Amino acid sequence: MRFVHETLPQRVVFAAGDAAAATAAEVAVLGASRAMLIAGKAEAALADEVGAGLSVAVRHDEVVMHVPAEVAERARVAASASGADVLVCVGGGSTTGLAKAVALTTGLPIVAVPTTYAGSEATNVWGLTEGEVKTTGVDARVLPRSIVYDASLMLGLPVEMSVASGLNALAHCVDAMWGPRVDPIDQALAGEGIRALAGGLPAVVADPAGLEGREQTLYGAYLAAVAFASAGSGLHHKICHVLGGMFNLPHAQTHAVVLPHVLALNAPNAPEAAGRIAAAFGSPTATEGLRALRAALDAPRALRDHGMPESGIAKAVGPVLAAAPSNNPTPLDEENVTTLLRAAWEGADPS
Ligand code: NAD
Repeated sequence: MRFVHETLPQRVVFAAGDAAAATAAEVAVLGASRAMLIAGKAEAALADEVGAGLSVAVRHDEVVMHVPAEVAERARVAASASGADVLVCVGGGSTTGLAKAVALTTGLPIVAVPTTYAGSEATNVWGLTEGEVKTTGVDARVLPRSIVYDASLMLGLPVEMSVASGLNALAHCVDAMWGPRVDPIDQALAGEGIRALAGGLPAVVADPAGLEGREQTLYGAYLAAVAFASAGSGLHHKICHVLGGMFNLPHAQTHAVVLPHVLALNAPNAPEAAGRIAAAFGSPTATEGLRALRAALDAPRALRDHGMPESGIAKAVGPVLAAAPSNNPTPLDEENVTTLLRAAWEGADPS
């Protein structure tokens, strides 16, 4: 074997029902004492709960998906004015993304308390949007120093959002299997992530207020993000990035719809990865494993249901081809990318 695997330096705390104490402890580990508590208005009650043990210098609740540059700037100004020495973010990927934007320019450490399965907390990737253009980058300063995972914060995450967000995590696992920097460690993490998500998500749907399914799903989402951060964006993420930026589509739902189509395209030409995915699902084939899980979850099916216009198919083909990694298992051309996008747009069965 010859490969280089970089493990990102981060503390990870699983503490179901104990977010307040665990977050205070992580802030203390950093030697910090004045928190900027970042949480959107909808997550205010969760932030009250998590922040109970903190000395809060300022609360900031202007959270917008994909982190518009002016929103980031206002948060940076608020951070500096408050004299905060640590950022504590409570929320989904949009909230973590805002904390990352502040950390990028201020160097303040982040303690992340996620409330969805997006996984941004375990990556060193930041994203900012100016107009219709989303820019992403990699920077060690944006990697949260600690994550506090408390599955009890997710008991109120609506089932539809839980399914979409959990399938976003599953997409991290699947795409990691053939990501541009994939190595056997990423594949091991991704396989265990698939196993946990495939068990956890049906349990969440069956009992959204049950802790066990939530914990399994959260554990899978963390592994997914670690595998993805190391392996890099494969075709699936490039497609979702292009579509999300062009048509302002909801992040998790876009991933949930596109994933089976990318798997169907790549699996025949990636037998080793497909075998690992199938084994993780406990299914004869990777595509059958995903099909069965999606059916059990009543997963989102069509991009047209989430705001993509039909004319967007032709518009997106060129940018997808330009962004696609050169190591994609199935060689890409205008025809197969158009077929994939049309099938995802109309919600056809992937084949
Ligand atoms: P989100 O953060 O926008 O949250 C989606 C919705 O769920 C919001 O309405 C929010 O208020 C609600 N919500 C969140 N937690 C809840 C809870 N516990 N209970 C009830 N409602 C809750 O969406 P997301 O899918 O988590 O994140 C998407 C964003 O994250 C995108 O901008 C994406 O690009 C980014 N992201 C970045 C990375 C990275 O590595 N940088 C990785 C994944 C996602």
